[in-house]
Amino acid sequence: MLTRRRLLTATAAAAATALAPRRLWAASTLTLGGTRIDTLSDGSLVLPGDFILGGMPQDEMQAIVAKYRLPTDQLTPPCNVTLLRDGTNTVLFDVGAGPDFQPSAGKLMEAFDAIGLTVDDITHVLFTHAHPDHLWGLLDDFDEPLFPNAEYMIGQAEFDYWTNPDTVASIGEARATFAVGAARRLAAIAETVRLLADGEKPLPGIAARLTPGHTPGHLAYEIAGPTPVMVLGDCIGNHHVAFERPEWESGSDQDKALAAGTRTALLDRLATEGHAIIGYHLPGGGIGRVERADIGYRFSEDI
Ligand SMILES: [Zn+2]
Repeated sequence: MLTRRRLLTATAAAAATALAPRRLWAASTLTLGGTRIDTLSDGSLVLPGDFILGGMPQDEMQAIVAKYRLPTDQLTPPCNVTLLRDGTNTVLFDVGAGPDFQPSAGKLMEAFDAIGLTVDDITHVLFTHAHPDHLWGLLDDFDEPLFPNAEYMIGQAEFDYWTNPDTVASIGEARATFAVGAARRLAAIAETVRLLADGEKPLPGIAARLTPGHTPGHLAYEIAGPTPVMVLGDCIGNHHVAFERPEWESGSDQDKALAAGTRTALLDRLATEGHAIIGYHLPGGGIGRVERADIGYRFSEDI
């Protein structure tokens, strides 16, 4: 049985100063038996629309995006970090962007404060992939891993790709900083990180699902239960074109054709099997389901 509630919490710091911008922290919660899953906001990104929408049939794309009342010149997707607590383990799926990527992101520690969680509480960190908005929150001010008690895990193929010294030169100018940033952060956990294969279970009841294309070794994580929950990362990257036209190639995916194939197959499976999903860049805290539509699919926030 899945239940859900939403929390909006004003931070004490923001409330203390009348002139400070009033920041509201969104957290959404799923309860799955004795397991509680929250999504915590890391803030949002500011992206040129072309980064995601550029290569698509422009008239049709415009019509789809307009239905969601979004502009197409600039997109500001939310970033939802998933937190799972089962009474034994406190698991984080990705760690947010940290202070060095975009000023609108890297807010995860404020969300921790708002719910009374500390970095010491985290027992495991499961990465979906090594892009800045998912990985760059890894290091503290001393370049040490921010979660001192956590075991870190990431896909074997993902780790191999971003730590390969050839990647910086081969990935292309637009993503070279992604490669430098990923290599530096993964080096900080290289001695101890656990590398996951497709289908491997990083923890009991959680299975890694290789979902490549957005990045070479992208993993989603399937959490078992009467209603399984799929933590998607970025293999389904938005609630508009990715659902309605999953077969369209997106500029945000490194291997665009592979990513489109992954997205199309996964949406079919998720709609058929009725999973709950958590998308890193989906609205309303990212929790919902996949429903079939006349054309493609739609994201439903009902679970
Ligand atoms: Zn992302």
